[in-house]
Amino acid sequence: MKKLRKKIIAGNWKMNKTTADAASLAEGLKLELGDCLDVDIVLCPPFTALSAVSGIIDDCHMKLGAQDMHWESEGAYTGEISSGMLRDLYCNYVILGHSERRAYFGETNETVNKKVKAAIAATLIPIVCVGETLEQRESGTTEAVVRDQVENSLAGLDDDLAKIVVAYEPVWAIGTGLTATPDQAQDVHAFIRKLLAEIGGSDIADGVRIQYGGSMKPANAAELLEKQDIDGGLIGGAALDVRSFAEIVKAAM
Ligand code: PEP
Repeated sequence: MKKLRKKIIAGNWKMNKTTADAASLAEGLKLELGDCLDVDIVLCPPFTALSAVSGIIDDCHMKLGAQDMHWESEGAYTGEISSGMLRDLYCNYVILGHSERRAYFGETNETVNKKVKAAIAATLIPIVCVGETLEQRESGTTEAVVRDQVENSLAGLDDDLAKIVVAYEPVWAIGTGLTATPDQAQDVHAFIRKLLAEIGGSDIADGVRIQYGGSMKPANAAELLEKQDIDGGLIGGAALDVRSFAEIVKAAM
C-alpha cells in the first residue's frame, strides 16, 4: 500500500554559518525550492541566524526550525532560548534530543520529554531524535536503546503524539559518511512505528512521520526515501550546500 504521509526534509545546519552566510544559503534554497509544495522543507540554522533566515523565507513555502530550546518559558536560565522566543521569530519546528546534545551537553530522555511538551504547548512541531551508537548496534541492543528513548522522550503525550516528527539517527552514521542501508533503516523505522502504536494507537502511529538521519546525501536519498516507513530526512552536512540539499528534496518528491 502506498504511503500517505507527506515527506519532510529538514536541514540541520548545526554550529555553521554566520548570519551573512546563512542568509545567502537561504536565498539560494529559496530560488531552488521556495515553490515546492510536494515536500515539507524545514531549515534549521543556528539561533543567531534564525531572524535573518526567517525574513528571507517568510514569503515562500519553506519553514523555519531551531536546533534546541529550553522547557521553561522564561527566567534565569543563562544562555537558553524559550519556545516563545522561537515563535517570535516564526519558527514552526524545533529539533529536540539530537544525539550531539545527548552526547556532549547532558541531554537526557527526561529533559527531552519536558522540551517536547513545552514545544507542543507553544504550537512548535518537535523533531524528536533517537538512535543507537555503534557499540550498542554491535552488541545487539539497538531496539532496547530506541525503545527506551522513544518511550521516555515521548512519555505522557497522549493524543499529542500526533503532533510530533521522529528522526531516527543512528549515531554511527551521523557525520561519518557511513549510512544505514535502506533495509537497516527501514527495520528500525518499522520498529519505531510499532512503538508509537503501542503508546498512542495505530491510527496516530500511522500518521507520524519518521525521518532518517545519518549521512543522507543525493547519492543515497532516493533508495532510503522509497522505504515504507521512511518519511523524510534530517540532513546535516549535505544541508549546507544548495545543490545537495535541493537534490535530496527532489528525491523525496
Ligand atoms: C544530523 O546531525 O542530524 C545528521 C544527520 O548529520 P549528517 O547528515 O551530517 O550525518
